[in-house]
Amino acid sequence: MRRQRRTKVVATLGPASSSRDVIARLFAAGADVFRINMSHTTHQRMRELVETIRSLEAECNRPIGILVDLQGPKLRLGGFKNDAATIDGGQDFVLDTDPAPGDATRVNLPHPEIFAAVKPGDALLIDDGKLRLTVTQAEPQRIVTRVVVGGKISSRKGVSLPHTVVPVAALASKDLADLEAALEAGIDWVALSFIQRPEDIAEAKKITRGRAAVMAKIEKPQAVARLNDILDLADALMVARGDLGVEMPLEKVPGVQKEMTRACRRAGKPVIVATQMLESMITSPVPTRAEVSDVATAIFDGADAVMLSAESASGQYPIEAVATMNRIAEEVENETLYPPALHVLHTEPQATGADAIAAAARQVAETLDLAAIVCWTFSGATALRVSRERPKPPIVAISPMLAAGRKLSLVWGVHCVIAEDARDQDDMVERACQTAFRDRFAKAGQRVIIVAGVPLGTPGATNMIRVAFVGDQSAAEV
Ligand code: PEP
Repeated sequence: MRRQRRTKVVATLGPASSSRDVIARLFAAGADVFRINMSHTTHQRMRELVETIRSLEAECNRPIGILVDLQGPKLRLGGFKNDAATIDGGQDFVLDTDPAPGDATRVNLPHPEIFAAVKPGDALLIDDGKLRLTVTQAEPQRIVTRVVVGGKISSRKGVSLPHTVVPVAALASKDLADLEAALEAGIDWVALSFIQRPEDIAEAKKITRGRAAVMAKIEKPQAVARLNDILDLADALMVARGDLGVEMPLEKVPGVQKEMTRACRRAGKPVIVATQMLESMITSPVPTRAEVSDVATAIFDGADAVMLSAESASGQYPIEAVATMNRIAEEVENETLYPPALHVLHTEPQATGADAIAAAARQVAETLDLAAIVCWTFSGATALRVSRERPKPPIVAISPMLAAGRKLSLVWGVHCVIAEDARDQDDMVERACQTAFRDRFAKAGQRVIIVAGVPLGTPGATNMIRVAFVGDQSAAEV
């Protein structure tokens, strides 16, 4: 089975999409990676979902990626008498360390780190930014604020501090437990929410120790400010537009999306554009024109993947939402303007053997109009560098490592096949051609370019390109 597009589709699983039947239909409709959101999923349910996806993967004989999204250190208010109060614009409102139930003048803020971190003038946003407060006085036990936008304020609503770096750990105790359970279940990618600094990624990597790739969700202005340092340590980024749009003016989010897409393409690391891409499809079988345009923009910019959240997790039309993304990607990638739009960003190769070979492979493949670039890759690193070139022909990655294939399911243009390592160079060429033929990337008589590292199985030794004719391999064993 092969996709007719390069951009990948990530579908979040939830109540609308937990059964094997629906997950299989989402995969058939175009989902390449399934996301499990630990804000709403128990360990038991997560394990069941992983098992279901793995059994589907075995049945389809295609690596499928699993991305577990950790909740992160979400800051919340304490409780109110009768669970809520109303505060008005212009009044003072106090947040303090007293655990007594709150009222219209004060409430407990059960996060001592915040008291030392805020300064007068900082903004404090409550309930996804619906209420806005400005700090006027910051003391060790109380923060006095002026209400800028008031309204109903309820118990345990989320608190955002867009101007303040709060010294909270990137992984709260729930995240640590969720991460251990996810690693034990054998997931491929872990996404960290509400990170603020590169150290947050380093902390997670100390725990994952290569057992899963680490994705940084960029959803705070503090993380935007340290984007390049974060990208140096992370394996991928997610443009988490939902929370970004709470913590910074909405009109700044498209610029951040472009900046992040470019930074990831330059680094050769995957980027996912996420949130509200087909929001109206939660309740409608067809998207709005603006949503289609939004998905198309991410694709024209060369994002690795586009993501569905509530549309596939709890909406009424999960299959239709995936099928819609699939259709948009196929159509956009067939536009004559797609290749020039993609290459508005020219990514110079870095001075490494892998990049020199990847750039050469792209040039040879495009000059000779070859059917595919077939890339032998152990860890997936060579396939990532070839993908970074955003070549016109499809990329077929052959790896003996199932874990590498699963991670590559998120990466632009890569169709991954798991097979045992080649015995020698002849075997490598022969099986590359057979695989391209079998998976319908090349017809008999067409040529492919093969990229590999010799001696075989030596990580980082990408040093070989070879052009080969594909014969009529229909009866051959791959
Ligand atoms: C987001 O905020 O855009 C996002 C993807 O995070 P979550 O869905 O976990 O809120």
